[in-house]
Amino acid sequence: MLRSSMLAAARSRGVRRLVEANPLTGKVVERFVVGTGAEDAVRAVRRLGADDRLVTLDHLGEDTSDTEQAATTVRAYRHLLRLLGEEGLADRAEVSVKLSAVGQFLPADGEKVALDGARRICEAAAAAGTTVTLDMEDHTTTDSTLGILRDLRVDFPWVGAVLQAYLHRTEQDCRDLAGEGSRVRLCKGAYAEPASVAFQRKEDVDRSYVRCLKVLMDGAGYPMVATHDPRMVALAAELAARAGRRPDDHEYQMLYGIRDAEQRRLAAEGSRMRVYVAYGEEWYGYFMRRLAERPANLGFFLRSLVSS
Ligand code: FAD
Repeated sequence: MLRSSMLAAARSRGVRRLVEANPLTGKVVERFVVGTGAEDAVRAVRRLGADDRLVTLDHLGEDTSDTEQAATTVRAYRHLLRLLGEEGLADRAEVSVKLSAVGQFLPADGEKVALDGARRICEAAAAAGTTVTLDMEDHTTTDSTLGILRDLRVDFPWVGAVLQAYLHRTEQDCRDLAGEGSRVRLCKGAYAEPASVAFQRKEDVDRSYVRCLKVLMDGAGYPMVATHDPRMVALAAELAARAGRRPDDHEYQMLYGIRDAEQRRLAAEGSRMRVYVAYGEEWYGYFMRRLAERPANLGFFLRSLVSS
């Protein structure tokens, strides 16, 4: 109930105005977002790299309904990728892209605009020597996003995808994407989805996560285990060992600001640990999904509003 209200608020302009207008919000946002510019993102890559953590960088923004805004986002990613190359950080950081931020929802030719924009980002990533992962948004975009992934992989076979265990379809999508060369980030899923397409009970989502993880670990691709759940992290290690995997042929991923000590522990034990780092001005939707995920995050936000 709380989660679905928060996720509805994530899409409400009225609530957005209220949250953004609160002078204390910024302090809390800082826990999840590293700053507004590419330089802030690069600094975070260096900082996290000090204890062997890899990074995937998200230039914040989504649901763009404006062609110029979509083009601005593409330019921002290309600028960031150039910087990563120049600073010698391309082996430590890649980028994560939401197709809705580069035009997927535009009324005229949205998919084509998004494909062209994503292609230009991939070209910049190839020039810098790193990779791109396509984030996954709500279920109405899944087919379109996987279609764009297929097109991109013709020229850029290293482009990664995200699959969400809460969707009924995902176990089959995992089978389809578990082949040689494919990079799949498995997460539980962060949007409010109807029962017609998604498991509603946490236990069912968790069971689906386990089934999907097995498919990916037994496959020939590169699984990216995106969860903060200690049980899933332990199980991933077990399944990887059972499938004869080495530490460099799969990775763990967590969000910046969440379970920092666990991230450092995994990196220190020699696992590949990647942190999803968001930066930019458009933090609202991302921030609200983080609050919705966990009552403790919401409590932290509310407490800081009253105690600051
Ligand atoms: P949950 O079921 O939320 O939590 C399970 C357990 O994990 C908790 O009981 C607790 O022990 C621990 N835990 C969780 N959060 C915290 C915390 N804040 N502090 C301490 N312990 C905690 N979603 C999408 O829909 N699309 C995407 O493209 C996408 N990309 C992602 C990329 C990465 C790298 C990650 C990590 C997540 C991404 N997500 C994405 C979000 C994801 O779908 C979940 O909403 C989010 O990760 C919460 O689920 P969970 O697996 O961490 O487990």
